[in-house]
Amino acid sequence: MAAVGPTRQSRVSMSVSMSLVQGGAAGASTAGTVLTAAAPFYQAPNIPQDVQPDRPIGYGAFGVVWAVTDPRDGRRVALKKLPNVFQSLVSSKRVYRELKMLCFFKHENVLSALDILQPPHLDFFQEIYVITELLQSDLHKIIVSPQHLSADHIKVFLYQILRGLKYLHSARILHRDIKPGNLLVNSNCVLKICDFGLARVEEPDQSKHMTQEVVTQYYRAPEILMGARHYSAAVDVWSVGCIFGELLGRRILFQAQSPVQQLELITELLGTPSMEDMRHACDGARTHMLRRVPKQPSLSALYTLSSHATHEAVHLLCQMLVFDPDKRISVIDALAHPYLDEGRLRYHSCMCKCCYTTSGGMRQYTADFEPAAAQPFDDLWERKLTSVQQVKEEMHKFIAEQLQTGRVPLCINPQSAAFKSFARQKKTKSNQDCFDLPSPLRTTLKILLSPVVFLYAA
Ligand SMILES: [Zn+2]
Repeated sequence: MAAVGPTRQSRVSMSVSMSLVQGGAAGASTAGTVLTAAAPFYQAPNIPQDVQPDRPIGYGAFGVVWAVTDPRDGRRVALKKLPNVFQSLVSSKRVYRELKMLCFFKHENVLSALDILQPPHLDFFQEIYVITELLQSDLHKIIVSPQHLSADHIKVFLYQILRGLKYLHSARILHRDIKPGNLLVNSNCVLKICDFGLARVEEPDQSKHMTQEVVTQYYRAPEILMGARHYSAAVDVWSVGCIFGELLGRRILFQAQSPVQQLELITELLGTPSMEDMRHACDGARTHMLRRVPKQPSLSALYTLSSHATHEAVHLLCQMLVFDPDKRISVIDALAHPYLDEGRLRYHSCMCKCCYTTSGGMRQYTADFEPAAAQPFDDLWERKLTSVQQVKEEMHKFIAEQLQTGRVPLCINPQSAAFKSFARQKKTKSNQDCFDLPSPLRTTLKILLSPVVFLYAA
C-alpha cells in the first residue's frame, strides 16, 4: 500500500492543478467546477440559531435523538439517550461499550461523542445522554428523496463509507449494522457512520460463537443468513455492497420479506454457491440450498441498475457482493479500486479536514488519505465486569473522567417540557420527522420546547 499512496497523491495534485489552469485564477470558481459533488443537498431551515426549537430527529431500538442547542456556545448538536442501560448485565455492558467507542473514535467519517451529560449521584444513575455533532440528513432519506444523485455523489459517498469503515476495521471493530439510515450526511455531503449499538470487537477465535441477531435483514451478509457461527469484518463489506447497489438503482438491492427469501434474492443474482463457498454455513442452511434448483449467476443485471452502473462501478460492486466472505474484497482493497479515485479527489479537494488550501490557492494534501486507528479498540475491560452494579460504578467513573476537560458540564432540566417529551420516547404523528414540519407547527414547538430550559450549564 505504501507504494500506492504517493502515486495516488501525485495524481490528485495533477488533476487539481489542471483544473486550476482550466478554471482560471479564481480559487473559488475552480473549486466549484471540480467539486459538483459538494453542492448542498438541503436548504437549511432559515431560523436564526437562538430561536431554533429543540426537537426529536430520530427514533428506533437505539432510543431517541434530539437536535438541541448547547447553551454554552449556542451550537446546534445532537443529544442521544442511551436506553435500557441497567436492565441486565448484557444490556449494561452493550451500552458501556457503545459509550466507550463514541469516546474512542477520532475520524472525520465516524460519529464520535462531543460531550456526555453530567450524571446524577450513583444512587440515581439510570440514563446516559451523549452529545454528538448534528448532521442534517442520512443516506436513507437522501435515497428515497426526489433529490438528483449524480455519479459524483455516489462516488464521494461510497468513498467516505469505506474510509470510515477502514478506520473502524483497523481498530478491530465490526459495525454489524451498516445501512443507509446509519450513515449521516450533512448539507456539504460529508458522511459519518453512526449507531454503534451492535458494534463489537472482532473475535479472532474461530471456535467462539457470535450472535446472529445483527444487521438489518436487507443488508445482512449471506454467511449470517446461513447461520455461520463465526463471522468477520467482511459482513460490513457486504452491507456496503448492498448500499452501493441501492445508490446506483435508487431502490433496495435485496428487499425480501424473510431471511429465507433474502437468501433466495441473493442467489438469484450470484447463482447457487459452491459447497466450498458455503463452508461457514450451518448444516440446515446448506441442505436447504442444495435442495433448490441450481441457479446461474446473473451479475450482468447490475448494469441495468442505472446509467451510473458503469463497467468500473459494476466491477467493484461484484467484488463486494461475493458469497464467500474470505473471497470478498477487503475495505483496504476496495479503496484502491480505480472507481474511487474521483471520490477521493473530490473529498480531499474541499470536503475533508485533513488537507488545506494555502493563501496562494494551492491545495496541500495529507500524507495519509485514509488513516487507520492509532491503536485497536480494547475490550478486555468487558470480561472483568460480572454484575450490573459493577458496570454501573465503572461507567459512572468513566463518565466523570471524560468530563475532566475544564468545560462547564451540561445537565438536563427534568422540569422542562422538552425533557418530558424526550423521556417518553413516543413516536407520534406530530413529532415524527420534525425537520420537515410546516412552519406553524414549528412555531408552536418553539414555544413549548425552549432550548434554554432543556439543557443548562451546571
Ligand atoms: Zn484531506
